[in-house]
Amino acid sequence: MTLLLDDVTLTYPDGDGRLTALDAVSLEVPAGRLTAVVGPSGSGKSSLLAVAATLVTPDRGRVVVAGTETGSLDRAGRAALRRSRIGIVFQQPNLLPSLTAAEQVQVMGHLSGAKPRSVRDRALALLDAVGLADEAERRPHQLSGGQRQRVNIARALMNEPSVLLVDEPTSALDHERGAAIVALLAGLTRDRGTATVLVTHDRTHATRADAVVLVEDGRIRTSPAS
Ligand code: ADP
Ligand code: MG
Repeated sequence: MTLLLDDVTLTYPDGDGRLTALDAVSLEVPAGRLTAVVGPSGSGKSSLLAVAATLVTPDRGRVVVAGTETGSLDRAGRAALRRSRIGIVFQQPNLLPSLTAAEQVQVMGHLSGAKPRSVRDRALALLDAVGLADEAERRPHQLSGGQRQRVNIARALMNEPSVLLVDEPTSALDHERGAAIVALLAGLTRDRGTATVLVTHDRTHATRADAVVLVEDGRIRTSPAS
Protein backbone atom coordinates (compact mmCIF):
# COMPACT_ATOMS: atom_id res chain seq x y z
CA MET A 1 0.00 0.00 0.00
CA THR A 2 1.62 3.22 -1.12
CA LEU A 3 -0.36 5.53 1.14
CA LEU A 4 -1.88 4.34 4.39
CA LEU A 5 -3.69 6.29 7.07
CA ASP A 6 -4.57 4.05 9.97
CA ASP A 7 -6.97 5.24 12.67
CA VAL A 8 -5.81 8.85 12.40
CA THR A 9 -7.20 11.43 14.79
CA LEU A 10 -6.22 15.10 14.53
CA THR A 11 -7.36 17.89 16.82
CA TYR A 12 -6.69 21.62 16.77
CA PRO A 13 -6.77 23.98 19.76
CA ASP A 14 -10.20 25.64 19.90
CA GLY A 15 -10.77 28.14 22.72
CA ASP A 16 -10.49 26.23 25.98
CA GLY A 17 -10.98 22.88 24.25
CA ARG A 18 -9.98 20.99 21.11
CA LEU A 19 -11.70 20.73 17.77
CA THR A 20 -11.61 17.27 16.22
CA ALA A 21 -10.73 17.75 12.54
CA LEU A 22 -10.16 14.04 11.83
CA ASP A 23 -11.82 11.34 13.90
CA ALA A 24 -10.32 7.85 13.60
CA VAL A 25 -9.83 8.08 9.83
CA SER A 26 -8.42 5.11 7.93
CA LEU A 27 -7.61 5.24 4.23
CA GLU A 28 -5.56 3.08 1.87
CA VAL A 29 -4.48 4.18 -1.58
CA PRO A 30 -2.53 1.72 -3.77
CA ALA A 31 -0.06 2.76 -6.47
CA GLY A 32 -1.68 3.80 -9.72
CA ARG A 33 -5.06 4.48 -8.15
CA LEU A 34 -6.99 7.73 -7.83
CA THR A 35 -9.09 8.19 -4.70
CA ALA A 36 -11.48 11.14 -4.64
CA VAL A 37 -12.34 12.73 -1.30
CA VAL A 38 -15.62 14.65 -1.20
CA GLY A 39 -17.55 16.28 1.62
CA PRO A 40 -18.87 19.62 2.86
CA SER A 41 -16.67 22.60 3.63
CA GLY A 42 -15.04 22.25 7.03
CA SER A 43 -15.46 18.46 7.11
CA GLY A 44 -11.72 17.76 7.31
CA LYS A 45 -10.68 17.15 3.70
CA SER A 46 -7.69 19.51 3.73
CA SER A 47 -6.71 18.24 7.17
CA LEU A 48 -6.65 14.71 5.76
CA LEU A 49 -4.29 15.83 2.98
CA ALA A 50 -2.10 17.78 5.42
CA VAL A 51 -1.67 14.67 7.57
CA ALA A 52 -0.96 12.48 4.51
CA ALA A 53 1.58 15.10 3.37
CA THR A 54 3.32 14.92 6.79
CA LEU A 55 2.79 18.67 7.11
CA VAL A 56 0.72 18.10 10.24
CA THR A 57 1.33 15.37 12.83
CA PRO A 58 -1.83 13.66 14.05
CA ASP A 59 -2.65 13.19 17.74
CA ARG A 60 -3.08 9.49 17.17
CA GLY A 61 -2.77 6.93 14.38
CA ARG A 62 -0.26 5.92 11.72
CA VAL A 63 0.64 7.52 8.40
CA VAL A 64 2.72 5.31 6.10
CA VAL A 65 4.11 6.76 2.85
CA ALA A 66 5.79 4.42 0.38
CA GLY A 67 6.66 2.00 3.16
CA THR A 68 7.96 4.61 5.58
CA GLU A 69 6.30 4.96 8.98
CA THR A 70 6.24 8.74 9.17
CA GLY A 71 5.68 8.74 12.94
CA SER A 72 9.28 7.63 13.42
CA LEU A 73 10.71 10.57 11.43
CA ASP A 74 11.91 13.88 12.84
CA ARG A 75 11.19 17.19 11.14
CA ALA A 76 14.14 16.88 8.74
CA GLY A 77 13.19 13.31 7.91
CA ARG A 78 9.65 14.35 7.07
CA ALA A 79 10.94 17.19 4.86
CA ALA A 80 13.22 14.75 3.01
CA LEU A 81 10.32 12.33 2.56
CA ARG A 82 8.15 15.12 1.15
CA ARG A 83 10.88 16.14 -1.31
CA SER A 84 11.47 12.63 -2.58
CA ARG A 85 8.11 10.85 -2.28
CA ILE A 86 5.22 13.30 -2.04
CA GLY A 87 3.82 15.66 -4.67
CA ILE A 88 1.45 18.31 -3.37
CA VAL A 89 -0.93 20.40 -5.47
CA PHE A 90 -2.76 23.09 -3.55
CA GLN A 91 -5.90 24.95 -4.58
CA GLN A 92 -3.98 28.04 -5.66
CA PRO A 93 -1.02 27.35 -7.94
CA ASN A 94 1.29 29.82 -6.11
CA LEU A 95 3.57 30.16 -9.09
CA LEU A 96 6.45 32.61 -8.94
CA PRO A 97 5.51 35.59 -11.17
CA SER A 98 8.98 36.09 -12.65
CA LEU A 99 9.63 32.48 -13.70
CA THR A 100 8.61 30.74 -16.92
CA ALA A 101 6.52 27.59 -16.77
CA ALA A 102 9.64 25.47 -17.37
CA GLU A 103 11.54 27.27 -14.60
CA GLN A 104 8.69 26.77 -12.09
CA VAL A 105 8.99 23.03 -12.67
CA GLN A 106 12.81 23.05 -12.73
CA VAL A 107 12.99 24.69 -9.30
CA MET A 108 11.66 21.49 -7.72
CA GLY A 109 14.36 19.42 -9.45
CA HIS A 110 17.15 21.74 -8.39
CA LEU A 111 16.01 21.48 -4.77
CA SER A 112 16.65 17.75 -4.98
CA GLY A 113 20.17 18.32 -6.32
CA ALA A 114 19.81 16.72 -9.76
CA LYS A 115 21.98 17.77 -12.73
CA PRO A 116 20.77 20.99 -14.42
CA ARG A 117 20.57 19.49 -17.93
CA SER A 118 18.49 16.51 -16.88
CA VAL A 119 16.32 18.76 -14.73
CA ARG A 120 15.58 20.92 -17.75
CA ASP A 121 14.81 17.91 -19.95
CA ARG A 122 12.49 16.38 -17.37
CA ALA A 123 10.71 19.68 -16.79
CA LEU A 124 9.98 20.00 -20.51
CA ALA A 125 8.80 16.39 -20.70
CA LEU A 126 6.43 16.98 -17.79
CA LEU A 127 5.04 20.15 -19.34
CA ASP A 128 4.41 18.10 -22.46
CA ALA A 129 2.64 15.44 -20.37
CA VAL A 130 0.27 18.05 -18.90
CA GLY A 131 -0.45 19.54 -22.33
CA LEU A 132 1.78 22.61 -22.10
CA ALA A 133 4.57 21.80 -24.57
CA ASP A 134 4.02 25.14 -26.34
CA GLU A 135 3.76 27.20 -23.14
CA ALA A 136 7.10 26.27 -21.54
CA GLU A 137 8.57 29.76 -21.91
CA ARG A 138 5.49 31.63 -20.73
CA ARG A 139 5.21 33.35 -17.37
CA PRO A 140 2.15 32.96 -15.11
CA HIS A 141 0.41 36.15 -16.34
CA GLN A 142 0.58 34.77 -19.90
CA LEU A 143 -1.22 31.56 -18.87
CA SER A 144 -4.91 30.85 -18.23
CA GLY A 145 -6.12 29.59 -14.85
CA GLY A 146 -6.31 26.04 -16.16
CA GLN A 147 -2.80 26.27 -17.63
CA ARG A 148 -1.42 27.59 -14.33
CA GLN A 149 -2.96 24.64 -12.54
CA ARG A 150 -1.30 22.31 -15.09
CA VAL A 151 2.08 23.90 -14.32
CA ASN A 152 1.32 23.31 -10.66
CA ILE A 153 0.68 19.62 -11.36
CA ALA A 154 3.85 19.27 -13.46
CA ARG A 155 5.83 20.85 -10.62
CA ALA A 156 4.40 18.38 -8.12
CA LEU A 157 5.49 15.47 -10.35
CA MET A 158 9.05 16.70 -10.86
CA ASN A 159 10.62 14.50 -8.23
CA GLU A 160 8.66 11.41 -9.31
CA PRO A 161 6.56 11.16 -6.17
CA SER A 162 4.93 7.92 -5.04
CA VAL A 163 2.06 9.84 -3.49
CA LEU A 164 0.26 12.74 -5.17
CA LEU A 165 -2.01 14.88 -2.99
CA VAL A 166 -4.30 17.35 -4.73
CA ASP A 167 -6.59 19.81 -2.92
CA GLU A 168 -9.54 21.20 -4.91
CA PRO A 169 -7.54 21.94 -8.08
CA THR A 170 -10.66 22.86 -10.01
CA SER A 171 -12.25 25.36 -7.61
CA ALA A 172 -11.15 28.39 -9.65
CA LEU A 173 -12.07 26.80 -13.00
CA ASP A 174 -15.33 26.37 -14.90
CA HIS A 175 -16.77 22.88 -15.04
CA GLU A 176 -15.31 21.92 -18.41
CA ARG A 177 -11.78 23.06 -17.57
CA GLY A 178 -12.12 21.44 -14.18
CA ALA A 179 -13.15 18.15 -15.77
CA ALA A 180 -10.10 18.33 -18.07
CA ILE A 181 -7.81 18.76 -15.04
CA VAL A 182 -9.40 15.76 -13.31
CA ALA A 183 -9.07 13.66 -16.48
CA LEU A 184 -5.41 14.68 -16.66
CA LEU A 185 -4.86 13.63 -13.03
CA ALA A 186 -6.54 10.28 -13.68
CA GLY A 187 -4.25 9.65 -16.67
CA LEU A 188 -1.09 10.74 -14.85
CA THR A 189 -2.00 8.50 -11.91
CA ARG A 190 -2.21 5.47 -14.21
CA ASP A 191 0.86 6.35 -16.29
CA ARG A 192 3.14 7.26 -13.38
CA GLY A 193 1.75 4.84 -10.82
CA THR A 194 1.18 7.42 -8.13
CA ALA A 195 -1.16 6.83 -5.22
CA THR A 196 -3.29 9.91 -5.77
CA VAL A 197 -5.75 11.60 -3.43
CA LEU A 198 -7.95 14.24 -5.04
CA VAL A 199 -10.06 16.46 -2.83
CA THR A 200 -12.94 17.91 -4.83
CA HIS A 201 -16.16 19.70 -3.95
CA ASP A 202 -17.62 18.65 -7.31
CA ARG A 203 -19.08 15.16 -7.09
CA THR A 204 -19.27 14.77 -10.87
CA HIS A 205 -15.46 14.91 -10.95
CA ALA A 206 -15.36 12.04 -8.48
CA THR A 207 -16.79 9.67 -11.08
CA ARG A 208 -13.33 9.62 -12.70
CA ALA A 209 -11.81 8.15 -9.56
CA ASP A 210 -11.13 4.50 -8.74
CA ALA A 211 -12.60 5.05 -5.28
CA VAL A 212 -14.65 7.78 -3.63
CA VAL A 213 -14.51 8.64 0.05
CA LEU A 214 -17.09 10.88 1.71
CA VAL A 215 -15.86 12.86 4.71
CA GLU A 216 -18.30 14.42 7.17
CA ASP A 217 -17.44 15.95 10.54
CA GLY A 218 -13.94 14.50 10.34
CA ARG A 219 -15.18 10.95 9.78
CA ILE A 220 -15.19 8.77 6.70
CA ARG A 221 -18.79 7.94 5.84
CA THR A 222 -18.25 5.60 2.96
CA SER A 223 -15.26 3.45 2.28
CA PRO A 224 -13.59 2.98 -1.12
CA ALA A 225 -15.72 0.95 -3.51
CA SER A 226 -12.88 -1.42 -4.35
P1 ADP B 1 -12.22 21.15 4.52
O1 ADP B 1 -10.93 21.11 3.77
O2 ADP B 1 -13.06 19.94 4.35
O3 ADP B 1 -13.00 22.40 4.26
P2 ADP B 1 -10.51 21.50 6.87
O4 ADP B 1 -9.69 20.27 6.99
O5 ADP B 1 -9.87 22.69 6.30
O6 ADP B 1 -11.88 21.15 6.10
O7 ADP B 1 -11.05 21.88 8.30
C1 ADP B 1 -11.64 20.94 9.20
C2 ADP B 1 -11.96 21.63 10.51
O8 ADP B 1 -10.73 21.99 11.16
C3 ADP B 1 -12.72 22.93 10.35
O9 ADP B 1 -13.61 23.05 11.46
C4 ADP B 1 -11.65 23.99 10.39
O10 ADP B 1 -12.17 25.20 10.87
C5 ADP B 1 -10.65 23.39 11.36
N1 ADP B 1 -9.26 23.80 11.08
C6 ADP B 1 -8.59 23.58 9.92
N2 ADP B 1 -7.31 24.01 10.00
C7 ADP B 1 -7.18 24.52 11.26
C8 ADP B 1 -6.11 25.12 11.99
N3 ADP B 1 -4.89 25.28 11.42
N4 ADP B 1 -6.33 25.52 13.26
C9 ADP B 1 -7.55 25.35 13.84
N5 ADP B 1 -8.59 24.79 13.22
C10 ADP B 1 -8.43 24.37 11.95
MG1 MG C 1 -10.19 22.36 2.28
